[in-house]
Amino acid sequence: MTGTKRIAVFGSTGSIGTQALQVIAANPSLFSAEVLTAHTNDELLVEQARQFNPNIVVIGDEKKYHKVKEALAATHVKVFAGEDALVEVAAMDCYDIMLAAIVGYAGLKSTLQAIECGKTIALANKETLVVAGDIVMQKALENKAPVIPVDSEHSAIFQCLVGEGRNKIEKIILTASGGPFLGKKPNFLVNVKRDHALQHPNWSMGAKITIDSATLMNKGLEMIEAKWLFNLQPEQVQVLIHPQSIIHSMVMFEDGSIKAQMGLPDMKLPIQYALAFPNRVASSFPRYDFKKPNTLTFEEPDVRTFRNLGLATEALFKGGNMPCVLNAANEIAVFAFLRNRIGFLDITTVVEQTLEKIAFIENPNLDEYFETDGEARNFAASLIQM
Ligand code: NAD
Ligand code: MG
Repeated sequence: MTGTKRIAVFGSTGSIGTQALQVIAANPSLFSAEVLTAHTNDELLVEQARQFNPNIVVIGDEKKYHKVKEALAATHVKVFAGEDALVEVAAMDCYDIMLAAIVGYAGLKSTLQAIECGKTIALANKETLVVAGDIVMQKALENKAPVIPVDSEHSAIFQCLVGEGRNKIEKIILTASGGPFLGKKPNFLVNVKRDHALQHPNWSMGAKITIDSATLMNKGLEMIEAKWLFNLQPEQVQVLIHPQSIIHSMVMFEDGSIKAQMGLPDMKLPIQYALAFPNRVASSFPRYDFKKPNTLTFEEPDVRTFRNLGLATEALFKGGNMPCVLNAANEIAVFAFLRNRIGFLDITTVVEQTLEKIAFIENPNLDEYFETDGEARNFAASLIQM
């Protein structure tokens, strides 16, 4: 590939988005940022626009449109606002690669639009695949839109698979740090507060995924994400706790050989890999040092305590609209926990009861996924108001 790759950073003000802009800034001959989008943080969006001089910015909150427009009046940056603008801009010709880094279900429609336009997708937004993975991957195939994972575990698996052609995978082993409450039991978790749950030992991330990491729902979502990305059966996806977060995941092939991808936990690495694929780009990211005292350990997850992982596994096996229900209920519950409306263990209760309530659809179409999401959100919210 010659020339610069033109990147659309959807969710540029978030944890992944800001790290992606660092990668882009460090490699101006390889990448340019052509689209930046933010939900509410207009100040950071304007600052980013002044630095990167993109074609387009989108501010989700329409009330902030005039403020952003005025702040960028002296530039050539075009300003759009509102939810529909995300989808509209996703269809434009001004970029080659969408970095899908919006959090949650909110990232689905713009990503689908980009896929329909045959764009390359660097996918951080795992919820897109959890909600409607079959349709997303089918559309990606039809439109020849490559989907390259950014999530560190899936990037690790993707990297292990380079050069393997049609060689069969026996299983993949997704590693999990275990989060801040590794080894804790329900009698401890029942009293956990928001600020404690927001302290992840190895990674600095957005609020939603940090809570998902503490409840192990993140790993459950990643199992479903992996199934769709790598076309696996549910039985082929295993989770292993690896508290040091040095091995980012592994693939076991049918001959029994295991490949792992390792490195210090730094999301800039998988972000850069996805943007530069199939090339590797020299970086100054800190290196893992084997000379320092280190031990890599592995253990089985405690699914009796961290029941979200079990619920996600059930949704993975059951399929249909169940992962979509799981995701919607979890988004509502995590949002409520972040606002101190419910306790840490209540997150699981809300997800479990919503999974029991919403009717199963075996092969949903896209509209049925949208309806399922709405129903599950409403039901989960009704549980919280009680
Ligand atoms: P974040 O909360 O830090 O950032 C989210 C971004 O999405 C922000 O730019 C925000 O403005 C935008 N956004 C939020 N709600 C929106 C809405 N309703 N409409 C439009 N835009 C909206 O989140 P993050 O940690 O950067 O995570 C982004 C995605 O990447 C998530 O799906 C997460 O699971 C995934 N991911 C993140 C990490 C990480 O290290 N942070 C690692 C792996 C995967
Ligand atoms: Mg991950």
